[in-house]
Amino acid sequence: MERLAAAGFAPEDIDLVVCTHLHVDHVGWNTRLDAGSWVPTFPKARYVFPKPDADYWDPRNLALYPNKIGEAVNAGFFDDSVRPILDLGLAQLVEGSAEVAAGVRLDPAPGHTPGSQTITVTSRGESALFVGDVLHHPLQIMNPGWNSIFCEDAALARQSRLRVLHRAVEEEAILVPAHFAGEHMVRVVATPGGLRPAPLS
Ligand SMILES: [Zn+2]
Repeated sequence: MERLAAAGFAPEDIDLVVCTHLHVDHVGWNTRLDAGSWVPTFPKARYVFPKPDADYWDPRNLALYPNKIGEAVNAGFFDDSVRPILDLGLAQLVEGSAEVAAGVRLDPAPGHTPGSQTITVTSRGESALFVGDVLHHPLQIMNPGWNSIFCEDAALARQSRLRVLHRAVEEEAILVPAHFAGEHMVRVVATPGGLRPAPLS
């Protein structure tokens, strides 16, 4: 929140929140604890969640989805960081591709979670792909078949990763995964030896 303030924004200024997927480490600032209740951090925002994840991770649907890989590590997040937003009617549940604001497009990239989606932001002739956890480490650009231990559907995660990486090459887009270190973003280039990460400029 300090960095948001440093960028010149108050929580009330934020009108759109988009989650790439619903995992404990990607929903944490949706809400904040206020006098014992979880309330929206951004009270004037529309929150965009992938519908397949909202179904999959809802503890009330446990009987439908009983064998989740990330069940233990993700315990509790839905009720403190997702349900309060749903209950207040602030959520927009998206399934499939969607334009959620001018220059902000969502596309499905399932596998890591059923609802994982990429956010393509286009501005002044350039585009950036915010890909969440489609990949966690630059080595996965060179080895797109490598999954994290928290990918719910291994085969689908590999397919989505490869497709997203090739999109980054073809569209010359900046790739912005959630967990890369340093400046957090790279370009992807195709070489005779396969895909490689490359510096931005
Ligand atoms: Zn994740």
